[in-house]
Amino acid sequence: MYSFLSINKLQSDLKSGAVSCKTLVEELVSEIKKKKQLNAFLEVFEKSALVQAIVVDEKIKSGKQGKLAGVVVGLKDNICYKGHKVSASSKILEGFESLYSATVVERLLAEDAIIIGRLNCDEFAMGSSNENSAFGNVLNPLNEKCVPGGSSGGAAAAVAANLCHISLGSDTGGSIRQPASFTGTVGIKPTYGRVSRYGLIAYASSFDQIGPITKSVEDTALALEVICGLDPRDNTSSSEKVETFSKGLAADKKYKIAYLKECVNAEGLDPEVKSSILKQIEILKAAGHQLEEVSFPYLEYLVPTYYVLTTAEASSNLSRFSGIHYGHRTENATDLESTYKKSRSEGFGKEVKRRIMLGTFVLSAGYYDAYYSKGQKVRRIIQQKTKEIFKDFDFILTPSTPGTAFEFGKNSADPIKMYLEDIFTVQAPIAGIPAISVPCGTHSNGLPMGLQLMADYFEEEKLLNLASKIKPLA
Ligand code: GLN
Repeated sequence: MYSFLSINKLQSDLKSGAVSCKTLVEELVSEIKKKKQLNAFLEVFEKSALVQAIVVDEKIKSGKQGKLAGVVVGLKDNICYKGHKVSASSKILEGFESLYSATVVERLLAEDAIIIGRLNCDEFAMGSSNENSAFGNVLNPLNEKCVPGGSSGGAAAAVAANLCHISLGSDTGGSIRQPASFTGTVGIKPTYGRVSRYGLIAYASSFDQIGPITKSVEDTALALEVICGLDPRDNTSSSEKVETFSKGLAADKKYKIAYLKECVNAEGLDPEVKSSILKQIEILKAAGHQLEEVSFPYLEYLVPTYYVLTTAEASSNLSRFSGIHYGHRTENATDLESTYKKSRSEGFGKEVKRRIMLGTFVLSAGYYDAYYSKGQKVRRIIQQKTKEIFKDFDFILTPSTPGTAFEFGKNSADPIKMYLEDIFTVQAPIAGIPAISVPCGTHSNGLPMGLQLMADYFEEEKLLNLASKIKPLA
């Protein structure tokens, strides 16, 4: 089987004829079948992937290939691809087929990437362990007793297990970065508005962003520059110039980096995660960067703010799944109201129901001011306080997650415990800034640990530049 190292190497091997796209797809399809127990893929698009592979092989022969020629991509099952099924890992959308492609999919295909299938995730991207999928758990390829993280668990597991070259996930509160950290991969959440959300099944629209999960920062840079940029079909997408991120990696710059006192000293932070972060801080200092401890006394407000606001948005976004237009419709209804009630009761899983109820509650007349308005105000304060740090610093550095991948069932009985998994990852989407998780070492339990870097709005180029310098501790 072709051993994938990087997009660059792959493309030179394709050009020299050492391997063909058709062979790549055939090998990966058989590998996905061999590693079926991981449950990373909900469906393999074997036919359309092969058709695209043959087209791209021809283009390579004629020297007219795009930037991502031959790169085999998996899509989280909340990203639409015309003529292919998409379900958000929910029974409510079982059997539904996309009527159009997401902008990110169009952009990948325009650069000759090959889409190989859709990847398991937490239902409607709600979760931190992939245990909320209606189609079963995804196993962490590095230790099958452990979760791969969530909600883009399948997307991270598929890349870590070499079942595709890169994947696209979505991140609302950490869903790209936390599974990347749990599987030893690289995951970036771009600035809000960088990447079009057209064709992404919405969870919380003012937080959601699509981003790649890859094996290296180099591959992330390349994939990101393809999917970023203004899209008239998403009116929150930004017209900010998209740099060629992959060209910015080589620069050797010295930065000012803040590390957050409250994160490094957080209760519940695994001591080995802490020491690996402290070691990385020393390595960065030795490389000539300036690192300073900064206090951010708002850490305890992040998770509550995130869950008040995202559940509010989710309760509104998910109201479209009514059993009328599309998706599951109950067979036991007697009238319109029971159609709504029963279709939704049968179609949604437990966590999605919990969040719809919570969101409806915080938006309800008597509680709107106490919860939703208050949440919005706190969000603004967090944005301002985060922005203030960037007056003096280029980056904020934290661990990606409080610990390594945990065993199945460990947090599932206690939603609050599960929500605290997101403590370091929710700041970036609350503020709207970009953030990346890169592997920073291996725990004595054998599992990878992640380091997170956040940067100011639209500073992805700088963020990728520094991220590419961070190497996991030996
Ligand atoms: N784990 C977080 C949640 O459950 C993040 C999910 C996400 O980013 N989509 O909401």
